[in-house]
Parts: sequence; structure tokens; C-alpha cells
Amino acid sequence: MADDPIQNLKSKIQNPKLSQELANWLEFYRELGIEEFYRRAPGSVAPLSPARDDRLAQTAPSEGAAREGRLAQATPSEGAGRAPATKPALTEIKPVVSAAPPVPRPPAGAPQTAVTGAPIRPPAPSLSLFEAPAPKSSGPETLEQIRADLGDCRRCKLAGGRHNIVFGDGNPHAELVFVGEGPGADEDEQGLPFVGRAGQLLNRMIQMIGMKREEVYICNVVKCRPPGNRTPEKEEIETCSPFLFRQLEAIKPRLICCLGAPAVRTVLGIKEGITKIHGQFYDFAASKALATVHPAYVLRNPREEKILREDFEKIREFLKGK
Ligand code: URA
Repeated sequence: MADDPIQNLKSKIQNPKLSQELANWLEFYRELGIEEFYRRAPGSVAPLSPARDDRLAQTAPSEGAAREGRLAQATPSEGAGRAPATKPALTEIKPVVSAAPPVPRPPAGAPQTAVTGAPIRPPAPSLSLFEAPAPKSSGPETLEQIRADLGDCRRCKLAGGRHNIVFGDGNPHAELVFVGEGPGADEDEQGLPFVGRAGQLLNRMIQMIGMKREEVYICNVVKCRPPGNRTPEKEEIETCSPFLFRQLEAIKPRLICCLGAPAVRTVLGIKEGITKIHGQFYDFAASKALATVHPAYVLRNPREEKILREDFEKIREFLKGK
């Protein structure tokens, strides 16, 4: 008992009421895990009480997992704030729920507020970084969230020449997604993908395989029109394509149809000529992907429409099979 610092301190205070009150408060702090801080030598570190050790042992690994989970989800989607997926492979992490430690009652005789007479309670101990529950996993991103994150994008120089961002259009639950190269003049004007002549050819192909345009989703590698309809540059693609990957991750289509070389290169990383690799099925995350010639190329080279038709027949066959 003589070694108990509270009793030691108590014995040094003459006023018995004050001495008891002080002892009550110190006992109270001890219950909170704040122990003997007033006599610790400078620079020394107090050991954790067993109760606190247990809490840390239980919560630290979960917090680590939760943090990794948040990173795993955030990394794929950074843009302004979030970097997007290079290839979507999100790790599902369950939220960590940890119970708040019980708040001890204030000691008898603890000071009271003058106004209400209620005992003055020290603030409830806030959850430490290790104990704070991870935010609830909100599930996969929606296209609306991705669009909101894109905002009034100024991430690359294409922003300077555009009239409208062409984010994408169609069924957010589409089984089939088309990825083109980038908006042309009509698309830039209307803010919608494939609404010009190439779009009309694409519409005809979609109808040919018994589908409606509203059933599919259509987007592009870059979301702003390159000046003079030039091919998007590497840096522009690198800046913008993460949003495309997030769109694909959000939709999770059964099949992605890449229209033209920039889409094939971006989505599949394939540099070989389209005429060599078109019509073949590749894996892309949980989806399959197929490359075909761009409808604009077919408009310039009408004899190549045969390739487009053949590949669309493959799409039809693929989507028939469940
Ligand atoms: N060409 C494309 O690649 N995308 C469009 O949206 C229109 C034409």
C-alpha cells in the first residue's frame, strides 16, 4: 500500500475531503488506463496495461487489413483524388467493427456542474486510430460516382479544346460494352459517344445482331475530342483511361468490344495490328474482350465492312451462350 502512489499522495494532503476527492479522481484515471503519469521520469515510457495490450492485439491486424483494403480500392481509382485502376481487380474487404471500450463511471463525490448539478464527466475516451471502425464498404462504384469524380476534368491538354466531355452512354448493366477511341466533332458537340457517321454504322451493326443501342454501353478511351480528330497521345490516354477502367469495373460486362487500335492497345495492351488479332476473345478481368476494326475505318475502306460483320456475328454467338 505504501508503494501505491495514490495512497502516498493522499497521505501528504492535510485536508481529508480534498485528499479523498483527489484519490477518487486518480483511481478514476487509473481505470481509464491513465496511470501514474504525474511521477514518470522524463523520457520514460509507461508500459501498457494488459487490458490495453489486448485491445491493440485484437484490433491492430484488422486495421491493417482495413487500411490495405481502402488502398486496394483507392489505388485503382485516383484521378483528381483517386487514381484509377490500371486493370480492375478490387479486393473486397469487410469493414472492421470494433466495440468502444466501456466508459467507467465518475467516482462518487466527483465535481458537479453549477447549472445542472450533473456530475462532470471527463470526455469519453475517443477511439484510437487502431480502434476506429473502418468506413463501411460501399460496394462497387457506380457510373454516377465515376462521372462525378471526373468532374469538369482539366487533367490533360485535351480539356482546352473540347466543348463537352463525352463520358459514355447506355445501359449501366450492359452485357456488351463498346470502347472507341475518342469523341469526334459530333460527339464533342452533343456530349454523347458515337452519334456521328461512325456511330450510325455502329448502330446498324448492333441492330444486325438483334440488339438495341439502349441495351449496350458505349464509351471511349479518351473523353475529350483530340484536335482535328487526331489519335490520342500516350499521356492523354494514360491520364484518361483509368476512368475507362473504372467504368468497365462498374459495369462488369460479359463482353468488351474494342473498336480500333487505340482501344485494343489500352484495354488489352496488344500492339499487333487489328487485322491480325480481330475476332479473337481475350480475358479482361471477369469479362471477355474482342477487338474489331473501327467503324470510321470501315467508312473510309468500305471493303473492310466484311471484317466488322464477321466480328459482330461472333459477338452475337458469344452473347447467346450463357
Ligand atoms: N469515334 C470514336 O472513337 N468515338 C466516338 O465516340 C465517335 C467516333
